[in-house]
Amino acid sequence: MARLSGYLSRRGGLHPEEASALRQATSRLFNGQNKAETCRWVNAQGYRTTLGNEWTPEVLVRVLSHPRMAGLDDEGNPVEDFGPTVLTPDEYFRLQALFVEQKSQQPQAREAFDYLLTHGGAECGKCKYDMVGTRVSGDADPSYRCPPPRAGQASCGRVRMNADRLEDTVAEAVLAELMRPGAQEHLARLLADMRAEAKRLEEHIAGAVRRFEELRGMRDALVPAAYAAAEKATKDDLRESRNRLRFLEQMIDLPIDGVASLVEWWNSAPRASQRALVRLEIAKVRVLAAGRGKLRDPRERVLIDWRRPPA
Ligand SMILES: [Zn+2]
Repeated sequence: MARLSGYLSRRGGLHPEEASALRQATSRLFNGQNKAETCRWVNAQGYRTTLGNEWTPEVLVRVLSHPRMAGLDDEGNPVEDFGPTVLTPDEYFRLQALFVEQKSQQPQAREAFDYLLTHGGAECGKCKYDMVGTRVSGDADPSYRCPPPRAGQASCGRVRMNADRLEDTVAEAVLAELMRPGAQEHLARLLADMRAEAKRLEEHIAGAVRRFEELRGMRDALVPAAYAAAEKATKDDLRESRNRLRFLEQMIDLPIDGVASLVEWWNSAPRASQRALVRLEIAKVRVLAAGRGKLRDPRERVLIDWRRPPA
């Protein structure tokens, strides 16, 4: 049987180009592209399956549904010392949920929509409460809304905005902001810091083998509970380091030399990276009420608090 795409062998070891293609394909699926469109894009980029064939929707789903995509065994538990993975477990499970939803032919999955600006990213312009992601009904478009008032929460519940309109407006503004004089230099400095952090993390992760060896060397000197705690801490640290590195890797390849490439990056970036870029630039988005349902330019309804004053 052929090796699994994205990995150098059946035991793991990331294949950087294939892993990148699979991650971008995943981002496109999360962003609402269908499987056929996603395959066309993957094939147009020159990527092929491990057998050298063009990607088809069926093969793409089969590969992306393999638990090893996220370093998991067939029961969904992490494989010991598997190393870097194509997807995070969170991405993997969300993707499986998306496949299941698509199979049941719901036009867009409730769980599948990953809001860009919830968890403090957007607030109601009327009452200042954080907006939440919601749908009016199961098959309605995702939207942001001010949460309805309840005991201990004096939110107004009166402001709502379609998620596409809000997020597209914010994305446009962020990309435009990055075209301003000085903005890219600022971002370049942030990215340089991130690259330095990524390098430190890589070295730290590479040192994990030695740390585990040292720990095993101390096994007889420690009571079992202390040994177990130390081993767990070392494993947790390794997992967190890998997650952080994975996140940084999605950011540090950000091309900042021209609108076209930045837009291209945005369109296929993982949601987590889009969110990271937005949060780098924006402290908060305030959403104003529609005003008696008048159809208005969404930009008039969205006030952006930039992290630094516009140049
Ligand atoms: Zn409100």
